[in-house]
Amino acid sequence: MATVIDTLKAGAARRRHPEKANRPDTPLLRKPEWIRVKAPGSPVYTETKRIVREHNLVTVCEEAGCPNIGECWTKKHATMMIMGDTCTRACAFCNVKTGLPAPLDAEEPENVANAVAKLGLRHVVITSVDRDDLADGGARHFVKVIEAIRRCSPGTTVEILTPDFLRKDGALEMVVAARPDVFNHNLETVPRLYLNIRPGARYFHSMRLLQRVKEIDPTIFTKSGIMVGLGETREEVLQVMDDMRSAGIDFLTIGQYLQPTRKHAAIDRFVTPDEFKSYETIARTKGFLLVSSSPLTRSSYHADEDFARLSAARNAAQPRV
Ligand code: SF4
Repeated sequence: MATVIDTLKAGAARRRHPEKANRPDTPLLRKPEWIRVKAPGSPVYTETKRIVREHNLVTVCEEAGCPNIGECWTKKHATMMIMGDTCTRACAFCNVKTGLPAPLDAEEPENVANAVAKLGLRHVVITSVDRDDLADGGARHFVKVIEAIRRCSPGTTVEILTPDFLRKDGALEMVVAARPDVFNHNLETVPRLYLNIRPGARYFHSMRLLQRVKEIDPTIFTKSGIMVGLGETREEVLQVMDDMRSAGIDFLTIGQYLQPTRKHAAIDRFVTPDEFKSYETIARTKGFLLVSSSPLTRSSYHADEDFARLSAARNAAQPRV
C-alpha cells in the first residue's frame, strides 16, 4: 500500500498547508520493502471507522496518513486527536492541516469518552493539534477529556501525547494534575534540525517539559520519540538519548520519517532495520525502561502492549523489600 499521500495534484496540499504552497517540490524516494504495509480494509477496521465518525472525532491515524492504520484499526486502536483538525504550527514533517482552528467543541470530551468505551480500549492514546491561539494551549480541554474517559471507562489507562505548551504558564501543571498514566511529548528530531523541521518549537523547552512532569509526579511514565531519516547523524541521535535520560524519560520511540507530500521535508535516507535494532540496543544500555525502535514505530503504535511492558519493567526495576 502506498503510504505517502501526494495530495498536491488535487490542490488539497495548498488548502491543508498554505505556508508550504510556494516551496519547491522535493523528490519522493521509492520506499524500501521493509516499509511496505498491507492495505486497510478488514471488517473491524470498518467498524472502528464507523465509531470514529459516529462520535464526530478526528484521529491522528488519518490526519497524519499513518502507514499503520490497517493494523491498528483492525485492533480498534485509534488515536484520537482532540481540539480539531487544524494546527497553529507548521512543522515541515507533519501532514496535519495548518491554519486558524475552530473554537473548541464542548461536547468533545464526552464524545471521546463514549467512543473509547464503545471501542472497549484497555489503553487509549489522546493527542492534539497545537493550540497556540488558546490562553492555556488547550490544557484544560486535555483535562476534561482525561476526566471524561476516567468516568466512562475507569479501567482504561490513559496516555496523552501533548503539544509543548510553549509560553503557556501553568498549562503543564494543570495536565499533570489530572494524572494521565503516560505523558508523551515528542522531541521529533535532533536539536540541529529544529529550525528546519520544527521551527515553532525549542528543543530544550520540550526536554524540560518532560523533565518537569517527572519532577511534579514521578509516578507518571514519561515517553518521547524521534523520527530518523531526516539528515541526523548517529552521534546526534545518541546525544538525544543521553539528554532524554538526564530528563528521566522512561520510554523512547524511534521510527522512520515518511514524507507526506512533495512540499514537506525531504527524506534524507531510509534507515535500515539493523540500524534501528542497534539504536534499540544502545538505548536500553542507557537505562530507558522501554524502547521501541523500528521503521514503522510511531508514538502510539502498539501503545497498549507497550504500556503493559512499561509497567512490568518498572516493577522489575523496583528494589525488593
Ligand atoms: S501507529 Fe498510532 S497513529 Fe498510526 S495508525 Fe496506529 S494508533 Fe494510529
